[in-house]
Amino acid sequence: MPAAPAAFDPHDPLGLDELLGPEELAVRDTVRQWAADRVLPHVADWYERGELPVVRELARELGSIGALGMQLTGYGCAGASAVQYGLACLELEAADSGIRSLVSVQGSLAMYAIHRYGSEEQKQQWLPAMAAGEVIGCFGLTEPDHGSDPAAMRTRAKRDGSDWVLDGRKMWITNGSVAGVAVVWARTDEGVRGFLVPAGTPGFSAPEIRHKWSLRASVTSELVLDGVRLPADAVLPEVTGLRGPLSCLNHARYGIVWGAVGAARASFEAALDYARSREQFGRPIGGFQLTQAKLADMALELHKGILLAHHLGRRMDAGRLRPEQVSFGKLNNVREAIEICRTARTVLGANGISLEYPVMRHATNLESVLTYEGTVEMHQLVLGKALTGIDAFRG
Ligand SMILES: Cc1cc2nc3c(=O)[nH]c(=O)nc-3n(C[C@H](O)[C@H](O)[C@H](O)COP(=O)(O)OP(=O)(O)OC[C@H]3O[C@@H](n4cnc5c(N)ncnc54)[C@H](O)[C@@H]3O)c2cc1C
Repeated sequence: MPAAPAAFDPHDPLGLDELLGPEELAVRDTVRQWAADRVLPHVADWYERGELPVVRELARELGSIGALGMQLTGYGCAGASAVQYGLACLELEAADSGIRSLVSVQGSLAMYAIHRYGSEEQKQQWLPAMAAGEVIGCFGLTEPDHGSDPAAMRTRAKRDGSDWVLDGRKMWITNGSVAGVAVVWARTDEGVRGFLVPAGTPGFSAPEIRHKWSLRASVTSELVLDGVRLPADAVLPEVTGLRGPLSCLNHARYGIVWGAVGAARASFEAALDYARSREQFGRPIGGFQLTQAKLADMALELHKGILLAHHLGRRMDAGRLRPEQVSFGKLNNVREAIEICRTARTVLGANGISLEYPVMRHATNLESVLTYEGTVEMHQLVLGKALTGIDAFRG
């Protein structure tokens, strides 16, 4: 006789926790506890102030729990699986997308670029300190006039003797002003190449971008490069061409597939909780059919999103994850997550717009997540091309 099914759990209606092994559950629980202790009590305040005042402290703590460059091996990195990394992203983004962004840019963009394309000396110089959170990294690809189409970038690196000289601007760069090292992608005579620019290099500055209404608890900056002279060994030797930055983005997008459902989960849970306790017309609003329809639809998309993230994670661990599949996950999960947050906002009524509850913060954060790492339209075009065989990126 098969055992009777476990009782229905409103927080895990499909029993998806059963898909996780003990080590995966341990990673999830460690990161969840860290976020509960170190982020949740403060994040509404940081958000309201539009700053992340303790970013260096948080980076060191994230390093100490192994969350930085988590999937990388050696150089002080945790060597975790794709599913473990995904679970960490989910738990971090359930606290705030800004904290997950800090970790994604550090691990999946800056460290990943150095780990995959750097020289042994570059790896030794930067990766252990970055894994420990002692050095923060950023990743500069987007420019003021070139976002979705990085092939048209204007930032240029020219050889001068054995040195390189960089000129240009990068825009919307997460961690920029607090970074000890910037991975900057620039056009050269040989094609696009990656350069490691240490903070403090003459001609390089990273002014912070203010007045954001999304990802407010995250540092976002411009990178200014005015005749930045770098030694020959500042270039990442193992890659030339856009496939370099695009491979890093693919890795970071995979984390977003998981992260977005974290923001959705936090919003769904806030709505469920509120619906059970808030009374109107003499009964909990969760007793009205229209509220139940919202909760049921949110639960469907939330747990389908977790299942999709899990499936993609297992494929990545098996070495069988294609970039088009990452686009599938990013497009679906961020789009559904933002819809869940917006619906949760309506369940909370006027309280839904308050920072006392997380839903509006998550909804506005996800506006950035919808745009960065490839907009909705870019991922539709990736899938459109994969489905039809016709490239529609240029009209
Ligand atoms: C908070 C935040 C943090 C970020 N962090 C980083 C970072 O750390 N590093 C980094 O390099 N970048 C970063 N970005 C930049 C981000 O990756 C870009 O914003 C994104 O790639 C889109 O570029 P864009 O904003 O220039 O929009 P554009 O490319 O100008 O697009 C504007 C609109 O036009 C649409 N569009 C463009 N081309 C087409 C087409 N062919 N067909 C149909 N529609 C099209 C787009 O989908 C979008 O809807 C960040 C952005 C934000 C908001």
